[in-house]
Amino acid sequence: MKKAILMCTCSFACPSMKDLDIPQLAERIRLELPHDYMVIHARLCEANGEALMRDLLKDDGTVYVTPACKVEKQAKLLRDGFAQAGVPMNESTWRPVSIQFKTTDQAFADVQATLEAIEG
Ligand code: SF4
Repeated sequence: MKKAILMCTCSFACPSMKDLDIPQLAERIRLELPHDYMVIHARLCEANGEALMRDLLKDDGTVYVTPACKVEKQAKLLRDGFAQAGVPMNESTWRPVSIQFKTTDQAFADVQATLEAIEG
């Protein structure tokens, strides 16, 4: 099973992410957490983010961890990207992580806990 991280930075401009150092978060994840690959996009819920998801996501056992906005919001905003890729959105394929209103350390810890909770 592959673990892929698909991080959305909300255009690097959302006030709710002001306490996050996104480059530092990304590099810490890359270096310290076991995963297969990470992709960072500025706005996954817009057309070019969905186009990326359509080309990238595979229904092949990969679990997509998505550090981004609130989980409920992600469920709505990422739905079309998953649908366009033909990947069902459920616990086996998708593990959202909210990185809003968090520091870099808190967001890192939440991504770590989410990756560790994935079996296999
Ligand atoms: S998916 Fe969420 S974090 Fe990403 S751009 Fe849309 S609202 Fe912002």
